[in-house]
Amino acid sequence: MSTALVWLRRDLRLSDHAALAAACAAHERVLPVYVHSPQEEGTWAPGAASRWWLHRSLKALGQALGERGGQLYLAAGDSLGELRRLIAQTDARAVYWTRCYEPALIERDSQIKGELRKRGIVVESQPGNLLLEPWRFSGSQQRPYRVFTPFWRKLESQLTAPRPLPEPRPRQWARLAGSLTLDALGLEPRIPWAGGLAQAWRPGEAGAREGLRRFCARGLADYAAGRDRPADAGTSRLSPHLHFGEITARQIHHALHRRAARAGAGGKAGIQAYLRELGWREFAHHMLYHFPGTCERNFNRRFDAFPWARADEGALERWRRGRTGVPLVDAGMRELWSTGWMHNRVRMIAASFLTKNLRLHWLHGARWFWDTLVDADLANNTLGWQWVAGSGADAAPYFRVFNPLTQAARFDPEAIYLKRWLPELARVPAAALHEPWRDPGALSGCGYPAPMVDLKVSRQSALEAFDALRA
Ligand SMILES: Cc1cc2nc3c(=O)[nH]c(=O)nc-3n(C[C@H](O)[C@H](O)[C@H](O)COP(=O)(O)OP(=O)(O)OC[C@H]3O[C@@H](n4cnc5c(N)ncnc54)[C@H](O)[C@@H]3O)c2cc1C
Repeated sequence: MSTALVWLRRDLRLSDHAALAAACAAHERVLPVYVHSPQEEGTWAPGAASRWWLHRSLKALGQALGERGGQLYLAAGDSLGELRRLIAQTDARAVYWTRCYEPALIERDSQIKGELRKRGIVVESQPGNLLLEPWRFSGSQQRPYRVFTPFWRKLESQLTAPRPLPEPRPRQWARLAGSLTLDALGLEPRIPWAGGLAQAWRPGEAGAREGLRRFCARGLADYAAGRDRPADAGTSRLSPHLHFGEITARQIHHALHRRAARAGAGGKAGIQAYLRELGWREFAHHMLYHFPGTCERNFNRRFDAFPWARADEGALERWRRGRTGVPLVDAGMRELWSTGWMHNRVRMIAASFLTKNLRLHWLHGARWFWDTLVDADLANNTLGWQWVAGSGADAAPYFRVFNPLTQAARFDPEAIYLKRWLPELARVPAAALHEPWRDPGALSGCGYPAPMVDLKVSRQSALEAFDALRA
């Protein structure tokens, strides 16, 4: 009886799983394996919130496999060494996996592929959680795209919506003694905010499927406008599920495509807008694949000479804890701290405040997001930060400095989001939060800090620094 290992990484699901399906089709016995090896992820090993999620996602997958008579074998350490040990113990002939696109993982995986093949093991990798492989897709003269709109136009024109693969049924799940316990992986960080995460999320494939169903029923029709209002549950919140591969972009695309056939004009607009966001996710992965250094350095190398302010730990800490005295920034940072997630519009504003009003290097922000976001994703986080800072591909121009007051007035006019996360401001009228100069006394006495910088003055000095760079 031939046995295959399926090495699981960012594909913690059973359905639409090409690697699992291929292993089940070609072998009698299949053993799903997870090897915890954060040291192999370079300088971007999973942060605390990611580890919190991973613990629960592995638990959910282990339970799902157990209900089917299978097992999720857990190991830790050097991936190649662990795979070789398991190959020897199970007499496996083949290893299957789903591709990852982060630079450190591409390098590791190709090395492991070479080593295993040298030993006569069949190695098969299947496309990862994207709509199209990044190397299959280029602009004129076979150069990678650097601008989103033409990238998306071309990608959209090439997309088909094939039916996702059903959950495979192996002839037999392999079982093996000696698996580590989940607790032994030491994933669960001792973080003060874990209670908030547990209330906000349901990691795992079933949670992802439920999230998509709920979003299609409640958020999708109004998504084009609703996605910008941070007080509403107007977005899908599928980002952590997508990151850990509990649901695939193909499954979402297929579900939306089917709905589009039945939808009216309004419904179609929501679907179009949503697919475009998935397009940004593709673009981010495309960029990281073709420009792997950009997770550490500016895509636009002119920014290497930008006069960032000296990292001031006190200022950074005020930003991290939501104590800047700028309500929309603080509300976002506290939402992040409490739930491991922040609304996209507020991410842009909090990032703009850090990189432009405080003029601190985008990597300080990217690192904090990396540790605290449950959806921390190297491609999306890098693109998001460099886009806001102005140093990225197809970035917001540097002179676009988000004004957190006008943004709040526009997208949270009743201050519902602000007051949800800043309870000390509950009694302050919305107008006084959006235009504090009209009623300077309204914020005094409620324990909320004064703004750490003047928004106008700091904006002006950021623009002057940029002008100096251009000159
Ligand atoms: C500074 C900054 C940092 C960010 N860091 C991350 C990160 O680490 N991980 C992450 O997944 N997203 C990141 N984003 C992008 C975006 O904020 C989140 O993907 C989105 O808020 C997730 O919520 P959602 O699933 O409800 O999104 P929805 O609005 O429901 O969008 C659907 C999906 O599309 C993708 N998507 C949406 N917007 C973007 C975008 N701007 N760029 C790339 N993909 C997008 C996500 O996978 C998302 O789940 C960042 C954005 C900024 C400005």
